[in-house]
Amino acid sequence: MSGRLRIRGGRVYDPANGVDGEVRDLCIEDGRIVAALPAGVPELDATGLVLMAGGVDIHCHIAGPKVSLARRLSPERRRRDVVASRALEDGYLRAGTGGLVPSSFVTGYRYGGMGYTTAFEAAVPPLGARHAHQELNDTPIIDKGFYVLIGNDDFLFRLLDTAGEDEVREHVARTAADARAYALKVVSPGGIAAWKASPRPDTRLGFDETVPGTRAVTPRRIVSAVASAVDALGLPHPLHLHCNDLGMPGNADVTLATMRALEGRRAHLAHLQFHSYGRAPDGRPTSRARELVEYLNEHPELTCDVGQVMFGEATAMTADTRVAELLHRLTGHKWIDLDVELESGCGIVPFEYRPKNYMHALQWAAGLELFLLARDPWQVVLSTDHPNGGSFLAYPRLIRLLMDRAFRDEELKRVNPAALAGTALADGLAREYTLSEIAIVTRAGPARQLGLPRKGQLGAGADADITIYAPQADIEAMFATPRYLFKGGELVVEDGQIVREVYGRTWQVAAPHGREVESAFARFVAERGTMPADQYRVDEDELPRAEIVAAAG
Ligand SMILES: [Zn+2]
Repeated sequence: MSGRLRIRGGRVYDPANGVDGEVRDLCIEDGRIVAALPAGVPELDATGLVLMAGGVDIHCHIAGPKVSLARRLSPERRRRDVVASRALEDGYLRAGTGGLVPSSFVTGYRYGGMGYTTAFEAAVPPLGARHAHQELNDTPIIDKGFYVLIGNDDFLFRLLDTAGEDEVREHVARTAADARAYALKVVSPGGIAAWKASPRPDTRLGFDETVPGTRAVTPRRIVSAVASAVDALGLPHPLHLHCNDLGMPGNADVTLATMRALEGRRAHLAHLQFHSYGRAPDGRPTSRARELVEYLNEHPELTCDVGQVMFGEATAMTADTRVAELLHRLTGHKWIDLDVELESGCGIVPFEYRPKNYMHALQWAAGLELFLLARDPWQVVLSTDHPNGGSFLAYPRLIRLLMDRAFRDEELKRVNPAALAGTALADGLAREYTLSEIAIVTRAGPARQLGLPRKGQLGAGADADITIYAPQADIEAMFATPRYLFKGGELVVEDGQIVREVYGRTWQVAAPHGREVESAFARFVAERGTMPADQYRVDEDELPRAEIVAAAG
């Protein structure tokens, strides 16, 4: 079957190919976009409708040990949103639970129902790789992959103290290969290891302070070494970086120090909003988002996703365990800490953002400042750091905040006015995103930053992942319920409802490395850990729908 279809007469927003709302046909054959099709092929009339590539989420938490743990921590939330199994014409949809941390099946259905076709889990400890893949294998509709954690691991620390750049590069490549990951993620470089050595919420590691138990490893050296290794390997996505001191007043200092330490190397800064705070002389947190944006504006090699806070329920879920402990102490909410040997861990706290709360309102405003002050939307990706700033299901509302100034002004009246004072929002930021800019921050930009040329665009050769929206005055309603979604050329959503279940691919990167690092790592974990090295290694047959991207280096 050739799966030919002409989607006729829609308004196409495809910024990667310079197409801005022109009326044209899109042709699909064998799951890809093609330049033309002969007359007489089946057609779908899209007159008056808006066409974009399928959405791409560059940073969310949807699979792996911490996600499972979050589901178990809050059964009372899951009980509210039980999704029953449902028959389809040629199959059925699986039952599950929704809410802030949906089950694997519901995660796929809800991304698809919102017009997204690709999502990347942003933090998997090396020992959690097998678990994460098993859940992703069970996540329908979307293409997916994950970033494996590095930067708080004892093996890297030993290499930084005793070996050279080549050994670090080999270790980075082996870590990605063993986990069958797509990219490398550093969370609070050295900070988690410091907290583990002294588990108190006031444990803080300065950017140039030595990680406990090492000779001369500092956050600066970790960032620099891993970013260089990722660049030297030519991985498609640069270092994915969660800076130190997330959520702490005054953390903009270390964020700026980190950006400077990269010295022109590429990096993607995760949920930058959570790293953009100043501190007033009286100790109150302030927003320094403007300074960070100014730095970004001058450094095209850096990109970020925002990690926008949305008012309502959220779940703090982070490898930065100290932050979870702090939140637990601040709110009195229950929490759980999962320690992973030799690298990372995670902390989870059910949470709620309230508009009248000074800090929450400030976080909300700082996120919007990042979006509205950024000169180049290609450097900024729309995210809520799901479920940390709110659910991915809040994206349509966030899009409305960016596109509809009158709506934004109404929302501004709801939030704590003291928190807004001093932010750019108080100056009456008039910018409204266009549909083309929304297409950049939700699909074209993240696809480019991920190094996935067949995603986020609608040119010939692209995957036929196409979202079709019916324009409405209410932008939120328009983006919440696409009229149609095609995934790999197949119609999977109609009027926001899944009509066919398909399973996408898992993206992984192939980064070559030698045997020497494998045996050195095996010796190290035999000596220091409780798990043998083969527990870190995911086999080829565990990923039935893998697609491998070769490193360019
Ligand atoms: Zn995250």
